[in-house]
Amino acid sequence: MYMSDKYYTTIGLEIHVELNTLSKMFCGCKNDPDEEIPNKNICPVCMAHPGTLPVANKKAIENVIKVGLALGGNIADFSEFDRKNYFYPDIPKAYQISQYKYPIVSGGHLLGVDITRVHLEEDTATSSHSNEGSLVNFNRAGVPLMELVTEPCIHDTDTLSAFAHELQTLLRYLNVSDANIEKGQMRVEVNISVSTDPNKLGVPTEVKNIGSFRSAVKAALYEQKRMIDLIEEGKIGEIVKETRGWDDAKQKTISQRSKENAEDYRYFPDPDLPKMYLHKAFDIEKMRSELPELPEAKRLRYRNDYGIKDEDIESYIEDRELGAWFENLATVLSDQTKIKTASNYITSDYLGLKKSNLEVRLPDIKNFAELMNMVADGMISSRVAKDILAMIVIADESPMKIATEKDLIQKNDEGALKEIAKIVIDANPVVVATYKGGKENALMSLVGQIMKETKGSANPALVQKILKELMV
Ligand code: ZN
Ligand code: MN
Repeated sequence: MYMSDKYYTTIGLEIHVELNTLSKMFCGCKNDPDEEIPNKNICPVCMAHPGTLPVANKKAIENVIKVGLALGGNIADFSEFDRKNYFYPDIPKAYQISQYKYPIVSGGHLLGVDITRVHLEEDTATSSHSNEGSLVNFNRAGVPLMELVTEPCIHDTDTLSAFAHELQTLLRYLNVSDANIEKGQMRVEVNISVSTDPNKLGVPTEVKNIGSFRSAVKAALYEQKRMIDLIEEGKIGEIVKETRGWDDAKQKTISQRSKENAEDYRYFPDPDLPKMYLHKAFDIEKMRSELPELPEAKRLRYRNDYGIKDEDIESYIEDRELGAWFENLATVLSDQTKIKTASNYITSDYLGLKKSNLEVRLPDIKNFAELMNMVADGMISSRVAKDILAMIVIADESPMKIATEKDLIQKNDEGALKEIAKIVIDANPVVVATYKGGKENALMSLVGQIMKETKGSANPALVQKILKELMV
């Protein structure tokens, strides 16, 4: 991100997350924003029929508390729901049930970013527009929506991106949301300002309609440049507090509306919902003790226990199934060097194979460990190990059996290799002459042919030694 002595960029994030509860926030409708039939999961409550009353979803509140505990935030003793008034077709009551003065969570940190608050509200309906008119689908209306707000304490896009990714991972570990950003289950809004005074924030804009982590970074960079350009042109007055939308096709932000202030929404406590005394309604300390191992703790444990590369660790953090499998494998291997080698095969070879073939599955731990032991014992070359790995991730069987059947056990039999070397030398007089003429590289072409001849089972170092001896 562009930083200089002249300009100070400050970013705060507002992240909305759809919680994966079975039912909606204030009614018994199924929580399924993916439902393809429009207006299927609706009822008089989420359609705001007169006389209906909301009942809060306890599981959704519990999920927000879990997030708060995982972030090290403070769980409010007293909390309540408020009405946030605004008139728009996607909100049938003409107000959104949200939280204003008393959010469930205040404070907390993640990757060094300070959290202001985490509260609970309801999602809106979705609208679609065409030449024939506009349609509103209420399947999503009333889905539990968690809103997390950070302090304006981010000054570079690496931190922005790392924070958003880490939050996504955390939500998945806590099993409160799938947090798929492309599906809109996690929505990132970027509040950004540029100032010429390090002690004062500039006029901020808020960028919405961001569909990926990459777009969040691009939107921040675009806004930063737009603001700096305006300041440089002496048009600082044209930077106004407003909501802008990210246009992914045009790769730019577009002004949508001037930003409302809190007072515009006329927040007031919702009289239809009871006040919440969270420390009475929930056993907070029990919930804290029951939190799963979180990504940061897991990273630390992997670093200490296995001494593997940070990039490898990230693969296991992101893919929990793979991480659990690797932990079991490490127990079986119980040797630091073998574990490190195994981790290389998993993160580069196995994950590479998996990307290109949907049939690729994690093999039986016993078989994978056997393969690693064969490598460690010098029984097979790393080339052969990769080939066998590619086989056992499709049809899981014993690597020892495969190697024996296919005659892939590394040949350290000098006599046998010498015979093959002689044949290859005789068949390649030109290469031999080139080598003898001083071109050391020509040797590798002969080594390659012998490796091919032995299906990769020859020990390459031994082959080189034999060739050199034969060609003096
Ligand atoms: Zn409903
Ligand atoms: Mn909100």
